[in-house]
Amino acid sequence: MTSSPFPLAPFPLEPGATIGILGGGQLGRMLAMAAARLGFDIVVLTPEADAPASRVAAHTLLAPYDDPVALAELAQRCAVVTFEFENVPAEVVAALHGLGVPTAPGDLALATAQDRVIEKTFFRDQGIATVDFVAIDSADDIRDGLDRLGAPALLKTRREGYDGKGQAWVATPDEARAAFDRLDRVPMILEARAPFVRELSVIAVRARDGTVAAYPLAENTHKGGVLHISVAPAEVDARTQDRAKAIARTTLARLDYVGVAGIELFQLANGDLLVNEFAPRVHNSGHWTLDACEVDQFEQHIRAIAGWPLGPTEPFAHARMENLLGGQVEDWAALAAEPGARLWLYGKREAMPGRKMGHVTRLSRLG
Ligand code: AMP
Repeated sequence: MTSSPFPLAPFPLEPGATIGILGGGQLGRMLAMAAARLGFDIVVLTPEADAPASRVAAHTLLAPYDDPVALAELAQRCAVVTFEFENVPAEVVAALHGLGVPTAPGDLALATAQDRVIEKTFFRDQGIATVDFVAIDSADDIRDGLDRLGAPALLKTRREGYDGKGQAWVATPDEARAAFDRLDRVPMILEARAPFVRELSVIAVRARDGTVAAYPLAENTHKGGVLHISVAPAEVDARTQDRAKAIARTTLARLDYVGVAGIELFQLANGDLLVNEFAPRVHNSGHWTLDACEVDQFEQHIRAIAGWPLGPTEPFAHARMENLLGGQVEDWAALAAEPGARLWLYGKREAMPGRKMGHVTRLSRLG
C-alpha cells in the first residue's frame, strides 16, 4: 500500500471516520448512503440549502465551495474529502491540501477533466483515440476549424459544460459566429461529428494500492443531451469490453487516480472506440450497479478512497436503468407498485423540466 503524504489520514480508514463530500446533489446522496453502510460519517459542503445529500449526511456545511471557514472546518472534521462533480475550483483543492486533508481524486485528475482540450490532448498522448478537434478562441478559429473538421461540427465550451449544456452544432461560418456569441465567447473546442453507431460507458475504480477493476460496459441513449437509458451489460463483443477496460486502466493509472470514474465512449461502425469524455466521479450510467451488483459504484468509490479492498464488479442480473426527468417523477406510485422495478428518488423538492429527479432500474436474467 502506498504511504500517504497526509499523516493525519492513515489508510485504511477505520469505520467511524468522517469523509467529506463537496457537492450536495444525488451523486453525493448515494455516496453518503453507501458510506453510512460501511460505518463512515459524511460531512457535505454545499451552497444549496436542503440539498439531496444533506438530508442523508451526518452534517452539512452550508457555504460557497471556496469559503475559507467552511473549508477549514471540513478539513478539521474529515480524514479524506471527495467530490460529486468535477468543476471544483483548483484553489479549493489546493486549500484542502494546504489544510492537511487529502482529496480523492487528486488535482491532476480534476484539472484534466475540467477542460475539454486538455482532456482530449491527454487521451491522445496515451494513444487513446478521440474525435478530431480544434481549440477555439475566436470566430475565425471556428471558420478554419470547420474547413479542417468538416461540417457540421459541434462547438462546446472548454469548461463547465454538462448534460449537453454549452454546446451547439454549427455548419457554416455564420452559424459558428452566432453560436460563439451566444456562448459568451468563452474558450471553446470544435469537435468533428463522431459517426457513432452507439454510445457506451465504462465505470472503473482504482484503489490506493493501484488495483483497477471495471464493471461491464453500459450502452447509453440520450434525450436532448441528457442520459435517458443505460442498459448493462451492453451487448458488445469481448474485444470491445477488453479495449474499454484497457482504456480505463491506462487512464486511471496515468492520472494516479483513486476512486470511481466514468469514461464515455463512442463506438464506430468498424467497432473502434473513441473516448468522448472522462468524469472523475461516480457516473449516472453506473446507477444500474446499485441493483445488479453486489458492490455498487458508490460503495466501490467509498472503499477506494478509504483505502479498503475493492469489491466484485460482476453483475448478477441484466439491468435497464431509466432516468426520471422532471415531471416523470410523478409516476412514483405506479413505479413503486411495479413488480421488479427498483425505484430511487433523490428527494429534490422541485421537478423542473429535464431535472434528474430519480431513476428506476428493471432487472432481468443475465442472457
Ligand atoms: P457531452 O456533454 O460531451 O457528453 O455530449 C453529450 C452528448 O452529445 C453525447 O452523449 C453525444 O450523444 C453527443 N455528442 C457529444 N459530442 C459529440 C460529437 N463529437 N459527435 C457526435 N455527437 C456528440
